[in-house]
Amino acid sequence: MSISLARPIDPMIPRTLFDSDHEAFRATARRFFEQEVVPNIERYEQQQHVDRSLWNKAGELGLLCATMPEEYGGSGVDRLYSMILIEEQGYAMDSSSGMSLHSDIVANYINNFGTHEQKLEWLPKMATGEVVGAIAMTEPGTGSDLQGVRTTAVLDGDDYVVNGSKIFITNGYLCDMAVVVVKTGNTEKGSSNLSLLIIDAKSPGFSKGKPLNKVGMKGQDTCELFFDNVRVPKANLLGMEGMGFIMLMKELAWERLIVAIICQAGAEAAFAQTLQYVKERKAFGKTVMSFQNTRFKLAEMRTDIDMGRAYVDRCMQMQLTESLAIEAAAAAKYKISEMFSKVVDECVQLHGGYGYMLEYPIARAYIDNRANRIYAGTNEIMKELISRSL
Ligand SMILES: Cc1cc2nc3c(=O)[nH]c(=O)nc-3n(C[C@H](O)[C@H](O)[C@H](O)COP(=O)(O)OP(=O)(O)OC[C@H]3O[C@@H](n4cnc5c(N)ncnc54)[C@H](O)[C@@H]3O)c2cc1C
Repeated sequence: MSISLARPIDPMIPRTLFDSDHEAFRATARRFFEQEVVPNIERYEQQQHVDRSLWNKAGELGLLCATMPEEYGGSGVDRLYSMILIEEQGYAMDSSSGMSLHSDIVANYINNFGTHEQKLEWLPKMATGEVVGAIAMTEPGTGSDLQGVRTTAVLDGDDYVVNGSKIFITNGYLCDMAVVVVKTGNTEKGSSNLSLLIIDAKSPGFSKGKPLNKVGMKGQDTCELFFDNVRVPKANLLGMEGMGFIMLMKELAWERLIVAIICQAGAEAAFAQTLQYVKERKAFGKTVMSFQNTRFKLAEMRTDIDMGRAYVDRCMQMQLTESLAIEAAAAAKYKISEMFSKVVDECVQLHGGYGYMLEYPIARAYIDNRANRIYAGTNEIMKELISRSL
């Protein structure tokens, strides 16, 4: 990419979350994105997935599964490290790598609900990048309404036999393993029919579709997974049968906050990129920055971004003590993803025609950001959750 990336400017209210160890990790993460990812983004977009070797490189640098316990290959550090990695991905304006989903969601399920043997089998390999993880909930016929899942797992001897399919699965194309939501029961209470199975991608009958042709996030591998009489050892059941829904609920606040963190960083990056552009670009013999409209737009954006930053940082602080309420995290996911969309739209406008050209990172941010309002629970579902707390 020929356009240089600008670093985000400091917020008006200083951040207070990080210590010097966090900052050292940030420097490693930043170098990783600048050197290993950014130069390859266009290629990732053409092939519709990152290079498999990128995962191993991230593992070598200690960037994967850092929050997992040391005995399972992680570094046993706090979730601010996850936040830093996500932020640095956002500041690099990269939407190709699905590392947070792998480390902060998939590994987290195994660590929270797995047996010692399951953790030993999967987590160390996930930390080195030898195994890429996916989480497969959504199906062609159901997304928001998880209780409508149709992929079945029927016990036969010591194995479950799994049949069905999943769609829109991040890391699906390169995954070596997926935590899959399956229907194990047929009771009237739909939520008690769901279970989580760890399925090895090498299992006979497990197949993957081609990466899906998305509007944006073109370098991120997203695909369909198919299960045709896949035999999965009973020992691969996560937690207890019928407890899938409850397990999925446990970390929802964190999963929603992850999207808010991505969007907050994305908005800060888009703003910085635009500030750099309007200071250089000239029209009518002056810089675009000098027009009152530009300065007012920038002032409005900076205000929205800094309000978001204060809320997200506070959520993060509460998440560290596991005291973040579901509705507060839902509000962060909903509002910060909308703020990102609004900011990036204004940023494209301030770039003029160049803002519509994909060689400019702002144009890519424009098409990439849209998915944030859809995945990890749509923003309508977020509003539903917030309203339920009233
Ligand atoms: C890029 C990308 C990556 C993804 N990665 C993954 C992944 O890794 N794993 C995975 O399992 N899934 C993944 N998804 C799927 C994603 O989580 C779902 O698309 C999302 O949950 C919405 O489900 P749906 O597509 O079935 O839409 P639907 O549920 O059919 O929703 C359609 C519309 O109806 C609205 N709606 C639905 N129910 C309600 C309600 N109760 N009240 C008000 N409005 C409602 C929705 O908000 C939406 O506007 C990904 C999707 C994308 C786009």
